[in-house]
Amino acid sequence: MEVALGRVVTRQGPRQLLTLRTYSTVRDVPRPAGSFTDAAPPAAPRSTSVFDDAVAATGPRHNWTKEEISQIHQTPLMELAFAAGTVHRRFHKPSAVQLCTLMNIKTGGCTEDCSYCAQSSRYKTGLQATKLSTVESVMEAAKVAKANGSNRFCMGAAWRDMRGRSRGMKNIVDMVKGVRSLGMEACVTLGMVDKEQAQMLKEAGLTAYNHNLDTSREHYPKIISTRSYDERLQTIENVREAGIHVCSGGILGLGETPKTDHVGLIHTLATLPGHPESFPVNKLVPIKGTPMFGEEPTKLEDLVRCIATARLVMPATIIRLAAGRVTMPESEQMMCFMAGANAIFTGEKMLTTDCNGWDEDKAMFERWGMEPMQTEASKIVAEPQMEARSFTHLRGEVKSGDAEISA
Ligand code: SF4
Repeated sequence: MEVALGRVVTRQGPRQLLTLRTYSTVRDVPRPAGSFTDAAPPAAPRSTSVFDDAVAATGPRHNWTKEEISQIHQTPLMELAFAAGTVHRRFHKPSAVQLCTLMNIKTGGCTEDCSYCAQSSRYKTGLQATKLSTVESVMEAAKVAKANGSNRFCMGAAWRDMRGRSRGMKNIVDMVKGVRSLGMEACVTLGMVDKEQAQMLKEAGLTAYNHNLDTSREHYPKIISTRSYDERLQTIENVREAGIHVCSGGILGLGETPKTDHVGLIHTLATLPGHPESFPVNKLVPIKGTPMFGEEPTKLEDLVRCIATARLVMPATIIRLAAGRVTMPESEQMMCFMAGANAIFTGEKMLTTDCNGWDEDKAMFERWGMEPMQTEASKIVAEPQMEARSFTHLRGEVKSGDAEISA
């Protein structure tokens, strides 16, 4: 924008005023040939760091050190988020976000002491405990979820483990079979399971089993005392060995230190024999009556940094923006999608907390050109056979030999 032109008279005589431009105004000035505008852009620098290697990855790796993940995590956030978005596009269809719906099939009365949880019987949160839902009510809810576009139906029961629950297991097997018969992916979270129970769930057709590590091994004892980190890892191993996808992630906002505890959480999951198929990132919704009530809310930059780091370290994994999304403005959610998140929970409720509704999410998808991810629930492919998806694959032109990553 030109702001001044003309002549003024000074003590030294008349002078021509210069044309003033505001800083950074674009001006169409002819430049001589060979100036920087005509020059080829500089060649991309050769890979010199763990960050560059992560950005160039064409497949998952499992030998990460904590220091390497920490280096990625500490990359300036603008660069980290952009790089994560780039890798995301190599491994996933960029506009596709999976819609999942979570049903609480048995509320409250849990004997564990997870210090963030409204369902623990140790805290006075006013939550009424219920019995296990009927198979019919689960099927009804799954049909509603499917009609609204969800293709993954998750069922959560507030239990420590499945020991002595043979009748409950039988009902859950029927629920899993019922959900799968609708052509949806089925996921359950039932606390700890042994190898035999995992096998029963596998035979029922279960797609994924959710068992979060919650936080780093170091911070974990400050959050839960009634089951150990290793017990959690054992359940994850039982599930993986049964051939069920593992869904395991964390909760941010438990009083942890992001640069060590987020890195620690990602490191544990990324160095398992197989990366989890799904990494849920929950933002703590503080519940009155639980020890975690009053904790500082997670900062957006810590959330985006965690998602972007996970995307670079576990490139083929689906990253689920889970509990707490309802507290985030749409612009913040979009930053998470741009940094690599590609699944959400949508529907009426997220266990005991509120959830963004289907209509709200449909409108958001419309505004931003997003689409529900299509997955083929029956396919579980061993990770070593995975390859990075090519752009042609991402656009739906699947050629034989292309790897299936999502199931
Ligand atoms: S998080 Fe799960 S295991 Fe922990 S108290 Fe809540 S329902 Fe029980």
